[in-house]
Amino acid sequence: MENYQVPPYKIKMVEPIKLITKSQRINRLKEAGYNPFRLKSEDVFIDLLTDSGTGAMSHFQWGALMQGDEAYAGSRSFYRLEKVVKDITGYKYVIPAHQGRGAEQVVLPLLIKEGMTVISNIHFDTTRAHVELAGGRAVDCACKECFDLENYHPFKGNFDLDKLKTVIKEKGKENIAAIIMTITNNSAGGQPVSLENMRAVNHIARENHIPIVIDGARYAENSFYIKQREKGYENKSIRAIALETFALADIFLMSSKKDGLVNIGGLIAIKDNLEIFQKAQVRVIPMEGFPTYGGLSGRDMDALAIGLQEALDEDYLRYRIDEIRYLGDLLKAGGVPIQYPTGGHAVFVDCGAIVPHIPFDEFPAQAVCNELYIEGGIRGVEIGSLLLGRDPDTHENLKADKEFLRLTIPRRTYTYDHLRYVAETMIKVYKRRHKIKGLKFTYESPILRHFTAKFEPIE
Ligand SMILES: *Cc1c(COP(=O)(O)O)cnc(C)c1O
Repeated sequence: MENYQVPPYKIKMVEPIKLITKSQRINRLKEAGYNPFRLKSEDVFIDLLTDSGTGAMSHFQWGALMQGDEAYAGSRSFYRLEKVVKDITGYKYVIPAHQGRGAEQVVLPLLIKEGMTVISNIHFDTTRAHVELAGGRAVDCACKECFDLENYHPFKGNFDLDKLKTVIKEKGKENIAAIIMTITNNSAGGQPVSLENMRAVNHIARENHIPIVIDGARYAENSFYIKQREKGYENKSIRAIALETFALADIFLMSSKKDGLVNIGGLIAIKDNLEIFQKAQVRVIPMEGFPTYGGLSGRDMDALAIGLQEALDEDYLRYRIDEIRYLGDLLKAGGVPIQYPTGGHAVFVDCGAIVPHIPFDEFPAQAVCNELYIEGGIRGVEIGSLLLGRDPDTHENLKADKEFLRLTIPRRTYTYDHLRYVAETMIKVYKRRHKIKGLKFTYESPILRHFTAKFEPIE
């Protein structure tokens, strides 16, 4: 283990988990319509569905919960949170939200007029949904290395700058509502974005008078990668790198369920635009709550104020990133194809390469995901053609670029031992890959089908 950071904390409280028998797992999955989203968590041994709100809080955070000020307006907890966010971002204005999508629904409609375009490296699903709900069009400008799974690149989350310039030119700069820098780039596998790339994006945006939004659910993980991989940042603190990142944007939206190290919460921070701040304050009231709580309780805000600071601790970040690298290294050594290098919150397994005999509309990654549950009680999630859905006009199934199984690692929750078990189980599934069968729908909802769909195996 000499190449991997030892966890910089010990365990004070435990939550039992249980591996039910294989025949029980087979039955439960069948009852769940071969869709792991429909499983009960008590039937899951190791839950790698998401890293969102699934992490463990520290004893400092649990202690802070007792001091929450539950005043409707002007809560002390809000002012403690506000101070921390101002220090980290260097921004003037802070509004809490109940989670990331809450922050999006308040701010994005303030920037977007009907028919305008929003550009991102890759829009996260809810961000895309809020752009479209506000009448905008979401265009992605991911760099091409992002889709080259096998070859190392330090910053696969980067923007393709030429494509960015071309889109601005084609649409006309006055029709671009905003550029959203998603850091890390969640949909590309939690891949980081370099400061060099963000500086170039900032330059292009300034030239064209386009506001920049940071979608920064994992900004601390991104800052750690910059320290590790970008020339000139080896000796800078994570805080200094984060501050330099925020200086390149105008608005920060955050799902605090990730690098906020809390189970629920979101944030809006605005650099200095008073008009946008005042409009956001008006909008937040009917949507999320009064501007000094935004859908959170006082105790939630206190836990978040501490979580934000803990997430910037370098030892914590090194361990976090190493845990994911460890799982990726074991899988690679076992022959399992993955997005390499691993990103900040998950290992993305390339199921298109594992079960090429299963066509995209029989959902290869969902089939592998189900086998992983049967083999060892592990719940991953499909990120592929099932998630993508159907063409709204033709109703044909759309084919995703990649059929991924995402193994998402909650923060401070599982140990290297759990991950070794995950790798060994995945490798067993990989060895019997030729026998894995595709799936067909027995129920499919018209939108967001992946959450509720039911299937049966194709014999
Ligand atoms: C999770 C996430 C969101 C949405 O946040 P929620 O807290 O799930 O509403 C937005 N953007 C990115 C990059 C995310 O990872």
